[in-house]
Amino acid sequence: MEVKIERTKTPKPKPDEGKLGFGNYYTDHMFIMNYDEGEGWHDPRIVPYAPFALDPAAMVLHYAQEVFEGLKAYRSDSGDILLFRPEKNMERLNRSCDRLCIPPIDEAFAVEAIKELVRVDQDWVPHAEGTSLYIRPFIFATDAHVGVHPAHHLIFSVILSPVGAYYPEGLNPVKIYVEDKYVRAVKGGVGFTKTGGNYATSLKAQDVAEKLGYTQVLWLDGVERRYVEEVGTMNVFFVLDGEVVTPSLETGSILGGITRMSCIEILKDWGCNVSERRISVEELVQAYDEGRLLEAFGSGTAAVISPIGELRVGDKVMQINRGEIGELSQKLYDTLTGIQWGKQPDKFGWTVKVN
Ligand SMILES: *Cc1c(COP(=O)(O)O)cnc(C)c1O
Repeated sequence: MEVKIERTKTPKPKPDEGKLGFGNYYTDHMFIMNYDEGEGWHDPRIVPYAPFALDPAAMVLHYAQEVFEGLKAYRSDSGDILLFRPEKNMERLNRSCDRLCIPPIDEAFAVEAIKELVRVDQDWVPHAEGTSLYIRPFIFATDAHVGVHPAHHLIFSVILSPVGAYYPEGLNPVKIYVEDKYVRAVKGGVGFTKTGGNYATSLKAQDVAEKLGYTQVLWLDGVERRYVEEVGTMNVFFVLDGEVVTPSLETGSILGGITRMSCIEILKDWGCNVSERRISVEELVQAYDEGRLLEAFGSGTAAVISPIGELRVGDKVMQINRGEIGELSQKLYDTLTGIQWGKQPDKFGWTVKVN
């Protein structure tokens, strides 16, 4: 399938690279492709960035049949524009599609479409240290039908947003509240997918935690409220004495991050003892009391590595590594960002050149 390109006649002014923040600006173009039952996915095109016209009965607005992805394009010092493991995002998008009864997309084609869109808007990939172009692919149901059934008509779109350095003043450890009332996902549900509903239902806990002075919540399993799952919209790692632990993905209630997967591969490459297993809050508290909880961090595309400086479990406040970033967290951050921005040799073959 060939991607038709219609270029904008009214390019927008570029934002100040020092004040990008996250998700505040969108580029000149977007990718769109339609699905209609009987025809399959068709008419891939890059067009000027513009609103969608949606019927008020469009199913996505009522029943949230929607999936999305998130990845970034990075500008290297030599002028290359690099993607990080984009094929993994498209694999995950299809896993989300399957769970949400959305027809699968052609993964290799979708990666090519993303590359083409980034090439068209390549001047929007920011240059300043730590900045990047956030890529948001998403698929949603457009059938004008107030009835609960899988859609027959959908749109696959990709938009781009230049984003700032996540930590302009260096890696900043965050305070995390262990959530004991609300849950994010349960076994058999949609926790392993990137679907809008997962995020709508997380807002309440996030709001409560913020009012208590915490940046994010640590989610526990939805049944026993005992085992650690994720931190906010990041996966979580704990550095114990002699073992690095991250919750296993077995239950299907955890989103399998590509940053998580990459951290595990790098740690193994360094010869670290990494376990994907269940880890309970009691075990964490015990490790902390015995001085064996050395570091904790979240992992995700937006922040890459987000050190955890404080964990609050009920009334107990645990300060980790004196509230400072740990050695392993820093080394992982430097290695991952080094590969992503093309400053370090890409020994795993993870980056994909766009231009
Ligand atoms: C996207 C996401 C992650 C991190 O995934 P990455 O591929 O590393 O960006 C983790 N948890 C949740 C809930 C997410 O939505």
